Amino acid sequence: NVAVVLYTSDLRLHDHPPLRAALSSSAQVVPLFVRDPAVSAPPNRLAFLADCLAALDAGLRSRGGRLVVRSGDPVAATMALVREADADEVHMAAGVSAYAHAREERLREALEAEGRRFHVHDAVITAVAPGAVTPSGSSGSDHFAVFTPYHRRWSEHPLRAAAPAPRAVPVPDAIRSEPLPERAAVTGTSPGLAPGGESEARRLLARWLRSGIDRYPETHDDLAGDATSRLSPHLHFGTLSPAEAVHRARAAGGPGAEAFVRQLCWRDFHHQVLAARPAAAAADYRDRGDRWRTGPDAEEETLAWKEGRTGYPVVDAAMRQLAHEGWMHNRGRLLVASFLTKTLYVDWRVGARHFMDLLVDGDLANNQLNWQWVAGTGTDTRPNRVLNPVRQGRRYDPDGGYVHRWVPELAGLPAPRVHEPWRLPGLERAGYDYPDPLVGLADGLDRFRAGRGAGPEPG
Ligand code: FAD
Repeated sequence: NVAVVLYTSDLRLHDHPPLRAALSSSAQVVPLFVRDPAVSAPPNRLAFLADCLAALDAGLRSRGGRLVVRSGDPVAATMALVREADADEVHMAAGVSAYAHAREERLREALEAEGRRFHVHDAVITAVAPGAVTPSGSSGSDHFAVFTPYHRRWSEHPLRAAAPAPRAVPVPDAIRSEPLPERAAVTGTSPGLAPGGESEARRLLARWLRSGIDRYPETHDDLAGDATSRLSPHLHFGTLSPAEAVHRARAAGGPGAEAFVRQLCWRDFHHQVLAARPAAAAADYRDRGDRWRTGPDAEEETLAWKEGRTGYPVVDAAMRQLAHEGWMHNRGRLLVASFLTKTLYVDWRVGARHFMDLLVDGDLANNQLNWQWVAGTGTDTRPNRVLNPVRQGRRYDPDGGYVHRWVPELAGLPAPRVHEPWRLPGLERAGYDYPDPLVGLADGLDRFRAGRGAGPEPG
């Protein structure tokens, strides 16, 4: 008998419950990835995905198997393969988005209509399944809207042990595959994009646990230090199991591990919010009646924000890092999102879309809900907090190293002055080819107040 394992955001061999279940029930397995034209993949994620698929195929080949790639509607393509292989069952990881749920339902109907079995595995894409930890205590569709109580309950929730990769994956010979997509064929990627794939994920995790995690509590906000794990693209594509990351960090122990696991919990938190409220991907989680700025001025300012020429050095540095690497430091994400939605007072969806176009870890749950958290339309308990980019720069880039790296026009200007170049005396100011601030911070607060009908809270 044959089982199909349909891969989506779980492109790994280690700690993979669908693959393990398929191998234990069936003599042969077809690991399948369907390139779905309905899932938007801008160049950075497409290139990273190509690495992940190549690595998955290589891992399967070293175990006697291979990856089968098809394109088209995932349900139609899976059903075609199921018939070709005469598979009895299909295994896949449970998804979180509305699209993923609809895909699962369609596949379930199609398989059951032919008398074939369908197994959807929980806690593959997240460490704890959405819905497993709820405020009422019973599993279901209510969800936590505040992080701290969620974190408490999540920390007590038992995690399955992380399983090793299987030794052998026997794949039937007759099944044809399309050629794997090639990273080199993707154009328009960020020049500093990181490599993808499971071995890269495992190498990064091992290095992080060896040298990095211990200093995480002190250094995670240090923009120039760049001292976070950089595991987010691997968690997004599932080349790393979040449950395994939690286990291995806990085994390492100490305050760094605790702080890191707490961030992994944030990831699960946003996933459980999105799973319970799929509409939050596009609509306000908490509608404050914002009247966001639109029109030519707002569009021009948004373009300056995207291109990293707002005149606020730390904002521009972060936006240029995003363009160059397809990744941005978390502190940068917080302050550029606050700048767009609070200081420019532009709709969070505009910023979220731009992030999704570029981020290699661009993820519907984490991106849309973090944007909303910052914008004040999400689950943040301080929705009127406005981050001041000058204070943020002085605090999180005290030596100006981050600005110097990404805004070379200001490389000669020492901190703290590098965070306020407009204050330089005339002649010295003229020596730096760098724009004046798009908007004064006090004017920004007025816009926020006018649009919100509420007083901002400094942050
Ligand atoms: P580390 O600090 O090493 O953290 C470890 C892991 O914890 C991360 O890889 C990530 O999976 C998770 N994590 C950390 N912080 C958060 C958080 N606030 N929310 C959810 N998970 C978190 N993260 C994404 O993975 N995809 C996104 O599209 C995304 N968009 C964001 C947009 C905005 C406006 C903001 C403020 C944050 C966003 N984040 C997003 C969260 C966070 O910035 C990144 O996960 C983090 O910067 C990735 O770097 P790292 O792997 O080195 O993180």
